[in-house]
Amino acid sequence: MRDFSTDHRWLSINTATIRKSRGVEQPLPSIIEACAQRGIRAISPWRDQVAAAGLPVISKLVNDHGLELSGYCRGGMFPAVDAVGMKAARDDNRRAVDEACELNAACLVLVVGGLPGALAGKAAHKDIALSRHQVSDGIAELLEYAKAANMPLAIEPLHPMYAADRACINTLEQALDVCDALDPSRSGALGVAVDVYHVWWDPKLEAQIQRAGKDRLMAFHVCDWMTPTTDLLEDRGMMGDGVIDIPKIRGWVEAQGFAGYSEVEIFSTGNWWQRDSAEVLDTCIARHRSAV
Ligand code: ZN
Repeated sequence: MRDFSTDHRWLSINTATIRKSRGVEQPLPSIIEACAQRGIRAISPWRDQVAAAGLPVISKLVNDHGLELSGYCRGGMFPAVDAVGMKAARDDNRRAVDEACELNAACLVLVVGGLPGALAGKAAHKDIALSRHQVSDGIAELLEYAKAANMPLAIEPLHPMYAADRACINTLEQALDVCDALDPSRSGALGVAVDVYHVWWDPKLEAQIQRAGKDRLMAFHVCDWMTPTTDLLEDRGMMGDGVIDIPKIRGWVEAQGFAGYSEVEIFSTGNWWQRDSAEVLDTCIARHRSAV
Protein backbone atom coordinates (compact mmCIF):
# COMPACT_ATOMS: atom_id res chain seq x y z
CA MET A 1 0.00 0.00 0.00
CA ARG A 2 1.31 3.40 -0.95
CA ASP A 3 2.53 5.74 1.78
CA PHE A 4 0.46 8.93 1.64
CA SER A 5 1.89 10.39 4.85
CA THR A 6 4.65 12.53 3.39
CA ASP A 7 3.09 14.22 0.35
CA HIS A 8 -0.15 14.62 -1.57
CA ARG A 9 0.86 13.54 -5.03
CA TRP A 10 -2.04 11.05 -5.17
CA LEU A 11 -4.66 13.49 -3.96
CA SER A 12 -7.41 14.53 -6.32
CA ILE A 13 -10.08 17.08 -5.48
CA ASN A 14 -13.62 16.50 -6.64
CA THR A 15 -14.53 20.10 -7.32
CA ALA A 16 -17.87 19.80 -5.51
CA THR A 17 -15.80 19.74 -2.31
CA ILE A 18 -15.10 23.47 -2.66
CA ARG A 19 -18.08 24.31 -4.82
CA LYS A 20 -18.96 26.84 -2.11
CA SER A 21 -16.71 28.98 0.05
CA ARG A 22 -18.39 30.61 3.07
CA GLY A 23 -21.67 29.56 1.48
CA VAL A 24 -20.97 31.36 -1.81
CA GLU A 25 -20.78 29.46 -5.10
CA GLN A 26 -17.22 29.40 -6.49
CA PRO A 27 -16.46 29.49 -10.23
CA LEU A 28 -14.53 26.47 -11.46
CA PRO A 29 -11.54 28.52 -12.75
CA SER A 30 -10.82 29.82 -9.26
CA ILE A 31 -11.23 26.31 -7.83
CA ILE A 32 -8.68 25.07 -10.35
CA GLU A 33 -6.27 27.89 -9.50
CA ALA A 34 -6.57 27.13 -5.78
CA CYS A 35 -5.79 23.46 -6.38
CA ALA A 36 -2.85 24.20 -8.68
CA GLN A 37 -1.38 26.65 -6.16
CA ARG A 38 -1.20 23.85 -3.62
CA GLY A 39 0.49 21.37 -5.90
CA ILE A 40 -2.63 19.28 -6.25
CA ARG A 41 -2.17 17.30 -9.45
CA ALA A 42 -5.69 16.11 -10.22
CA ILE A 43 -9.31 17.19 -10.03
CA SER A 44 -12.68 15.75 -10.90
CA PRO A 45 -15.03 18.49 -12.08
CA TRP A 46 -18.80 18.50 -12.48
CA ARG A 47 -20.49 19.17 -15.79
CA ASP A 48 -22.53 22.11 -14.54
CA GLN A 49 -19.38 23.81 -13.26
CA VAL A 50 -17.63 23.23 -16.59
CA ALA A 51 -20.65 24.48 -18.54
CA ALA A 52 -20.85 27.65 -16.45
CA ALA A 53 -17.22 28.54 -17.23
CA GLY A 54 -17.19 27.14 -20.77
CA LEU A 55 -15.56 23.89 -21.86
CA PRO A 56 -12.74 25.57 -23.88
CA VAL A 57 -11.84 27.77 -20.89
CA ILE A 58 -11.62 24.80 -18.56
CA SER A 59 -9.80 22.67 -21.08
CA LYS A 60 -7.13 25.36 -21.46
CA LEU A 61 -6.80 25.88 -17.69
CA VAL A 62 -6.43 22.16 -17.09
CA ASN A 63 -3.74 21.97 -19.78
CA ASP A 64 -1.92 25.10 -18.63
CA HIS A 65 -1.63 23.72 -15.11
CA GLY A 66 -0.82 20.20 -16.24
CA LEU A 67 -3.74 18.87 -14.22
CA GLU A 68 -5.13 15.38 -14.64
CA LEU A 69 -8.81 14.47 -14.30
CA SER A 70 -9.27 11.47 -12.01
CA GLY A 71 -12.81 11.36 -13.40
CA TYR A 72 -15.56 13.48 -14.87
CA CYS A 73 -18.85 13.95 -13.03
CA ARG A 74 -21.08 12.72 -14.37
CA GLY A 75 -23.16 10.72 -16.81
CA GLY A 76 -26.02 8.34 -16.13
CA MET A 77 -29.63 9.02 -15.14
CA PHE A 78 -30.75 6.48 -17.73
CA PRO A 79 -34.34 5.54 -16.69
CA ALA A 80 -37.20 7.46 -18.27
CA VAL A 81 -40.92 7.05 -18.75
CA ASP A 82 -40.97 7.20 -22.53
CA ALA A 83 -38.89 7.14 -25.71
CA VAL A 84 -38.44 10.91 -25.68
CA GLY A 85 -36.95 10.77 -22.20
CA MET A 86 -34.71 7.84 -23.11
CA LYS A 87 -33.41 9.67 -26.17
CA ALA A 88 -32.74 12.81 -24.14
CA ALA A 89 -30.72 10.75 -21.66
CA ARG A 90 -28.85 9.04 -24.46
CA ASP A 91 -27.96 12.32 -26.17
CA ASP A 92 -26.90 13.97 -22.92
CA ASN A 93 -24.71 11.02 -22.00
CA ARG A 94 -23.00 11.16 -25.37
CA ARG A 95 -22.25 14.84 -24.77
CA ALA A 96 -20.81 13.89 -21.38
CA VAL A 97 -18.48 11.40 -23.09
CA ASP A 98 -17.40 14.08 -25.58
CA GLU A 99 -16.68 16.55 -22.78
CA ALA A 100 -14.74 13.94 -20.82
CA CYS A 101 -12.63 13.31 -23.92
CA GLU A 102 -11.99 17.01 -24.43
CA LEU A 103 -10.77 17.23 -20.82
CA ASN A 104 -8.77 14.00 -21.13
CA ALA A 105 -10.52 12.47 -18.09
CA ALA A 106 -9.51 9.07 -16.77
CA CYS A 107 -13.15 7.97 -16.90
CA LEU A 108 -16.72 9.21 -17.06
CA VAL A 109 -18.44 8.44 -13.75
CA LEU A 110 -21.99 7.09 -14.07
CA VAL A 111 -24.67 7.77 -11.47
CA VAL A 112 -27.21 5.58 -13.14
CA GLY A 113 -30.56 6.98 -11.99
CA GLY A 114 -33.48 5.46 -10.10
CA LEU A 115 -37.21 5.78 -10.56
CA PRO A 116 -37.94 8.38 -13.24
CA GLY A 117 -39.32 11.57 -11.73
CA ALA A 118 -38.24 10.71 -8.18
CA LEU A 119 -35.40 13.23 -8.13
CA ALA A 120 -37.90 15.96 -8.93
CA GLY A 121 -40.14 14.74 -6.11
CA LYS A 122 -42.65 12.46 -7.82
CA ALA A 123 -41.76 9.00 -9.06
CA ALA A 124 -43.61 7.99 -12.22
CA HIS A 125 -43.82 4.37 -11.05
CA LYS A 126 -42.63 1.91 -8.39
CA ASP A 127 -40.99 -0.64 -10.66
CA ILE A 128 -37.33 -0.55 -9.61
CA ALA A 129 -36.67 -3.73 -11.60
CA LEU A 130 -37.75 -1.87 -14.73
CA SER A 131 -35.37 0.96 -13.87
CA ARG A 132 -32.52 -1.49 -13.41
CA HIS A 133 -33.32 -3.02 -16.78
CA GLN A 134 -33.28 0.42 -18.40
CA VAL A 135 -29.99 1.22 -16.70
CA SER A 136 -28.38 -1.89 -18.08
CA ASP A 137 -29.70 -1.15 -21.58
CA GLY A 138 -28.61 2.47 -21.31
CA ILE A 139 -25.08 1.57 -20.28
CA ALA A 140 -24.88 -1.03 -23.05
CA GLU A 141 -25.76 1.57 -25.65
CA LEU A 142 -23.48 4.25 -24.21
CA LEU A 143 -20.64 1.76 -23.96
CA GLU A 144 -20.49 1.42 -27.74
CA TYR A 145 -20.21 5.18 -28.12
CA ALA A 146 -17.68 5.48 -25.30
CA LYS A 147 -15.54 2.67 -26.69
CA ALA A 148 -15.34 4.44 -30.05
CA ALA A 149 -14.27 7.59 -28.20
CA ASN A 150 -11.83 5.65 -26.02
CA MET A 151 -13.45 6.94 -22.82
CA PRO A 152 -13.84 4.37 -20.00
CA LEU A 153 -17.16 4.33 -18.13
CA ALA A 154 -17.12 3.89 -14.34
CA ILE A 155 -20.37 2.80 -12.70
CA GLU A 156 -20.62 4.28 -9.20
CA PRO A 157 -22.82 2.24 -6.87
CA LEU A 158 -24.66 4.55 -4.50
CA HIS A 159 -25.75 3.86 -0.95
CA PRO A 160 -29.23 2.26 -0.89
CA MET A 161 -30.74 5.43 0.55
CA TYR A 162 -30.46 6.87 -2.97
CA ALA A 163 -32.12 3.91 -4.75
CA ALA A 164 -35.29 5.86 -5.58
CA ASP A 165 -33.94 9.16 -6.76
CA ARG A 166 -30.32 8.82 -7.82
CA ALA A 167 -29.10 5.31 -8.46
CA CYS A 168 -30.73 1.87 -8.43
CA ILE A 169 -27.29 0.25 -8.53
CA ASN A 170 -26.51 0.13 -4.82
CA THR A 171 -23.73 -2.34 -4.22
CA LEU A 172 -20.40 -3.09 -5.80
CA GLU A 173 -21.70 -6.58 -6.53
CA GLN A 174 -24.59 -5.18 -8.56
CA ALA A 175 -22.31 -2.84 -10.47
CA LEU A 176 -19.90 -5.68 -11.26
CA ASP A 177 -22.78 -7.88 -12.42
CA VAL A 178 -23.55 -5.21 -15.02
CA CYS A 179 -19.87 -4.96 -15.95
CA ASP A 180 -19.60 -8.72 -16.41
CA ALA A 181 -22.77 -8.86 -18.51
CA LEU A 182 -21.82 -5.98 -20.81
CA ASP A 183 -18.06 -6.34 -20.94
CA PRO A 184 -17.21 -9.98 -20.23
CA SER A 185 -13.78 -9.69 -21.80
CA ARG A 186 -12.72 -6.99 -19.29
CA SER A 187 -11.73 -4.73 -22.13
CA GLY A 188 -10.96 -1.77 -19.88
CA ALA A 189 -13.92 0.15 -21.26
CA LEU A 190 -16.25 -0.48 -18.32
CA GLY A 191 -15.59 -0.56 -14.59
CA VAL A 192 -16.56 0.92 -11.25
CA ALA A 193 -15.95 3.94 -9.07
CA VAL A 194 -15.52 2.87 -5.44
CA ASP A 195 -16.74 5.65 -3.16
CA VAL A 196 -16.19 4.71 0.47
CA TYR A 197 -19.23 6.76 1.51
CA HIS A 198 -21.53 4.49 -0.48
CA VAL A 199 -19.99 1.08 0.13
CA TRP A 200 -18.15 1.09 3.48
CA TRP A 201 -20.98 -0.79 5.25
CA ASP A 202 -21.18 -3.68 2.76
CA PRO A 203 -20.17 -7.07 4.26
CA LYS A 204 -19.18 -8.19 0.76
CA LEU A 205 -16.99 -5.17 0.05
CA GLU A 206 -13.59 -6.80 0.29
CA ALA A 207 -14.66 -9.80 -1.77
CA GLN A 208 -16.22 -7.61 -4.44
CA ILE A 209 -13.13 -5.41 -4.66
CA GLN A 210 -11.15 -8.60 -5.26
CA ARG A 211 -13.69 -9.62 -7.90
CA ALA A 212 -13.36 -6.22 -9.58
CA GLY A 213 -9.61 -6.48 -9.90
CA LYS A 214 -7.37 -3.85 -11.41
CA ASP A 215 -9.22 -3.82 -14.77
CA ARG A 216 -12.47 -2.68 -13.25
CA LEU A 217 -11.25 -0.38 -10.45
CA MET A 218 -11.30 2.99 -12.18
CA ALA A 219 -11.78 5.51 -9.40
CA PHE A 220 -11.52 5.73 -5.61
CA HIS A 221 -13.53 8.41 -3.78
CA VAL A 222 -13.09 9.34 -0.13
CA CYS A 223 -14.89 11.31 2.54
CA ASP A 224 -16.36 10.11 5.85
CA TRP A 225 -19.68 8.95 7.32
CA MET A 226 -20.80 11.12 10.21
CA THR A 227 -22.85 9.96 13.19
CA PRO A 228 -25.46 11.23 13.18
CA THR A 229 -25.82 12.02 9.49
CA THR A 230 -28.19 14.98 9.29
CA ASP A 231 -28.77 15.19 5.54
CA LEU A 232 -29.04 12.33 3.06
CA LEU A 233 -26.96 14.09 0.42
CA GLU A 234 -25.02 16.99 1.82
CA ASP A 235 -23.64 15.94 5.18
CA ARG A 236 -20.51 14.12 4.15
CA GLY A 237 -17.64 14.30 6.58
CA MET A 238 -13.95 15.08 6.19
CA MET A 239 -11.75 12.00 6.18
CA GLY A 240 -10.91 11.09 9.76
CA ASP A 241 -13.98 12.71 11.30
CA GLY A 242 -16.37 9.76 10.92
CA VAL A 243 -16.64 5.99 11.13
CA ILE A 244 -15.21 4.73 7.83
CA ASP A 245 -11.93 2.80 8.02
CA ILE A 246 -10.60 4.45 4.88
CA PRO A 247 -7.03 3.07 4.99
CA LYS A 248 -8.41 -0.46 5.24
CA ILE A 249 -10.54 -0.01 2.12
CA ARG A 250 -7.70 1.72 0.25
CA GLY A 251 -5.53 -1.24 1.18
CA TRP A 252 -8.04 -3.62 -0.42
CA VAL A 253 -8.23 -1.53 -3.58
CA GLU A 254 -4.46 -1.18 -3.87
CA ALA A 255 -3.95 -4.89 -3.23
CA GLN A 256 -5.68 -5.36 -6.59
CA GLY A 257 -3.21 -3.03 -8.27
CA PHE A 258 -5.16 0.21 -8.20
CA ALA A 259 -2.56 2.98 -8.33
CA GLY A 260 -4.64 6.03 -9.19
CA TYR A 261 -5.73 9.09 -7.29
CA SER A 262 -7.61 9.20 -4.04
CA GLU A 263 -10.38 11.66 -4.86
CA VAL A 264 -11.88 13.73 -2.06
CA GLU A 265 -15.60 14.24 -2.63
CA ILE A 266 -17.41 16.10 0.12
CA PHE A 267 -20.88 17.66 -0.12
CA SER A 268 -21.46 19.56 3.10
CA THR A 269 -24.04 22.33 3.25
CA GLY A 270 -23.85 22.79 6.99
CA ASN A 271 -20.13 22.50 7.62
CA TRP A 272 -17.40 22.44 4.96
CA TRP A 273 -19.26 24.57 2.41
CA GLN A 274 -19.66 27.21 5.13
CA ARG A 275 -15.91 27.45 5.63
CA ASP A 276 -13.35 29.29 3.55
CA SER A 277 -12.36 27.07 0.63
CA ALA A 278 -8.65 27.65 1.37
CA GLU A 279 -9.15 26.09 4.81
CA VAL A 280 -11.07 23.19 3.27
CA LEU A 281 -8.34 22.46 0.72
CA ASP A 282 -5.60 22.67 3.35
CA THR A 283 -7.59 20.28 5.53
CA CYS A 284 -8.06 17.88 2.61
CA ILE A 285 -4.28 17.81 2.10
CA ALA A 286 -3.62 17.21 5.80
CA ARG A 287 -6.24 14.48 6.10
CA HIS A 288 -5.12 12.84 2.88
CA ARG A 289 -1.79 12.31 4.65
CA SER A 290 -3.16 11.29 8.04
CA ALA A 291 -6.53 9.58 7.51
CA VAL A 292 -6.59 8.10 3.99
ZN1 ZN B 1 -18.30 9.49 -5.48
